[in-house]
Amino acid sequence: MAKKIPYKIYLTEDEMPKAWYNLKAHKGARHAPFVNPATQKPCSRDDLTHVFCDECVDQELNERDEYIAIPGGIRSFYRMFRPSPLVRAYCLESALKTPAEIYYKFEGNNTSGSHKLNSAAAQAYYARCQGLRSITTETGAGQWGTALAMAAAYYGLHLDVYMVKVSSEQKPYRKEVMRTYGANVIPSPSNTTEAGRKLLAEFPDTGGSLGCAISEAVEKAVTTDSCRYVLGSVLDHVLLHQSVIGLESKIALDKYGVKPDVIIGCVGGGSNFGGLIAPFMGERLEGLNDIDFVGVEPASCPSLTRGKYVYDFCDSAKTTPLAKMYTLGCGFMPSPNHAGGLRYHGMSPIISKLYHDGFIRAVSAEQSKVFEAATMFARTEGILPAPESAHAIRTAIDEAVACRESGKKKVILFGLTGTGYFDLAAYKQYNEGTMTDIIPTDADLARGFSTIPDCPVNAGLL
Ligand SMILES: *Cc1c(COP(=O)(O)O)cnc(C)c1O
Repeated sequence: MAKKIPYKIYLTEDEMPKAWYNLKAHKGARHAPFVNPATQKPCSRDDLTHVFCDECVDQELNERDEYIAIPGGIRSFYRMFRPSPLVRAYCLESALKTPAEIYYKFEGNNTSGSHKLNSAAAQAYYARCQGLRSITTETGAGQWGTALAMAAAYYGLHLDVYMVKVSSEQKPYRKEVMRTYGANVIPSPSNTTEAGRKLLAEFPDTGGSLGCAISEAVEKAVTTDSCRYVLGSVLDHVLLHQSVIGLESKIALDKYGVKPDVIIGCVGGGSNFGGLIAPFMGERLEGLNDIDFVGVEPASCPSLTRGKYVYDFCDSAKTTPLAKMYTLGCGFMPSPNHAGGLRYHGMSPIISKLYHDGFIRAVSAEQSKVFEAATMFARTEGILPAPESAHAIRTAIDEAVACRESGKKKVILFGLTGTGYFDLAAYKQYNEGTMTDIIPTDADLARGFSTIPDCPVNAGLL
């Protein structure tokens, strides 16, 4: 007999994972290497340590160890906000009259309001251990910048955050949270870097983009002494740090003998989804389960469902290594009416590979439907979700409704990555009925695709 499932499954501090899960220990999750655009050859370790902290580069390149220990210095920070609860969504289930069981892993229980603190803590810790004085990064919606500001304060590092200009204007309070934790916030494009000055000369009125903010942050890191750049998504070591989400979920579900049939996550750069599915996907790649893994992206920035699987730059100024991933083109600009995050042109190489090989399904959602799901969730489960997270909620609700119609009793797990207190302008639009859905046309996408480099590693792919 299955044990009765409580509303919230909490783990004890001792049950908090002592190691992250490295999906690339499994052959099926290994992807084509990063390529140096100048040589068109795989990046060397030195190419990467120039930009990123040494330990993060070693983790990035690690295809050997299935488990990588979480140092005590990171676990002591994790203890402030982990383990996070796994919640059985009884109220949502009953509102939907579904036979499905719905569970969500809630990562919004810290001041940054998202899962991003899991990787921010790790990356700031490694920068500190390397003896660096400062780190740089970019932020779009602001959750990553906030998470890194908290981590930089905890580990005693100086932090410069390049914040996409429209976001810094739309979310002035996000900026104040970062400043309160001691970060220096610079609206991007700025005149503090070559990349920023160049873009401003060409487009003086631009509101900026994540790709441009990345270019500025990388440039600042490589031209500043004792400084490295830190990225909040996309890269393998970020997915590695986020595996703590999946590991905790698995421990909690195992405790009650529950096996998920469907696992759903929103995908921007792919880090929360990659972390949530990691240990389950590891089993899948060994043929041990048949879970339906679903990534949900915005219809306005559809890198998986409508992108190309090619080598592309990770930034718009074309300064980073080339990564083989699903991409809309490094010059793709999502429509400014798009409210939530998840507006990155590319996708995690690990997620891209698994999707390409058919281990992951992808769906896209229009923002008005996403906010409809967010509202239903807030009213039934009580938590005001981040718009990003609400993409996963949308698909979880759709799955649960399909169960009601077919009479199938599936177990659904989804990632509730964060809270939406800084997204109230978007909620206001939704409440006032002024929110619109703009879906890029094929011609819009073609403009983005034309910015993908036509280089030897892409021969035959374009
Ligand atoms: C950043 C963010 C995301 C998307 O990033 P991924 O790397 O795809 O996980 C999703 N939800 C929230 C709340 C975020 O802050």
